[in-house]
Amino acid sequence: MSATLLNGKELAAKKREQMKSKIEQLAVENITPGLAVILIGDNAASQSYVRGKQKACAEVGIYSELIERPDSITEQELLVEIDRLNEDPAIDGILVQLPIPAHISEQAVIERIAPNKDVDGFHPINIGKMMTGEKTFLPCTPYGVVEMLKEASIDLEGKHAVIVGRSNIVGKPVGQLLLNENATVTYCHSRTKDMRNLTTQADILIVAIGRPKFVTAEDVKEGAVVVDVGINRVDGKLCGDVDFDGVKEKASYLTPVPGGVGPMTITMLLENTIQSAESRK
Ligand code: NDP
Repeated sequence: MSATLLNGKELAAKKREQMKSKIEQLAVENITPGLAVILIGDNAASQSYVRGKQKACAEVGIYSELIERPDSITEQELLVEIDRLNEDPAIDGILVQLPIPAHISEQAVIERIAPNKDVDGFHPINIGKMMTGEKTFLPCTPYGVVEMLKEASIDLEGKHAVIVGRSNIVGKPVGQLLLNENATVTYCHSRTKDMRNLTTQADILIVAIGRPKFVTAEDVKEGAVVVDVGINRVDGKLCGDVDFDGVKEKASYLTPVPGGVGPMTITMLLENTIQSAESRK
């Protein structure tokens, strides 16, 4: 058996088409969704992510504003910048590209963004709402993962979902969203003992650790749904945290890297920005 691929690139393109017509409807009411991205320093990877976000905004018709500041910016100066954007009526979403320099508190920055403009879904208020199942901005990568599973009509209720990785931006929230969908969730991390004993029980296995091809066919139950969030560069080529060639012979569904979760992340950022703009009405 060879797994059905969960094609994030295709789903992202479909969703972006739907967004274009939503944005046209908003234009009738004189609303253009606006996203502000703050980029600090000259980290090449961050610059490339930010370019991708701006390009995606332009593609669907979201106004985007790039605020570039040097590494030497102080925390206070950055907070003032965020305050200005919080007040700016043309801006519906504010995103500070991480990582930021060590002399600035990431938490202070996240908490300064107005929760109703926190389209990354990292503000503690929005995390709390996600936990209680209230409507809010969901963190983009986990949101994208759940959308991919739903698009493939994969039933989540009562399924055992095992999450490998417990970061605040991927592992923890993806587990919470699956719990909200009535899955039974187990988290694994670097201190987990006998991890294979857990991953081989998973109906749905989500891997987000940042280690190339770490999860192999031996870690996967026959017929499991496997979602590979990892993005690693090995010898100039991108690969995930899952050994794609081995696991695809055992899983029922599998996400490729690239072309799986990656394209969904930016798409859900656009979705959150539009959702925010809609609340202007
Ligand atoms: P972090 O480095 O923040 O977290 C990694 C997690 O993996 C930690 O919880 C860590 O455990 C766990 N871990 C590390 N090594 C092991 C191990 N050997 N066994 C079990 N658990 C382990 O990473 P992120 O969550 O930010 O990102 C994970 C991956 O996803 C990366 O490759 C990243 O590039 C990618 N990514 C992809 C996105 C996309 O759009 N597709 C978006 C965001 C990230 P512990 O907590 O104990 O240290």
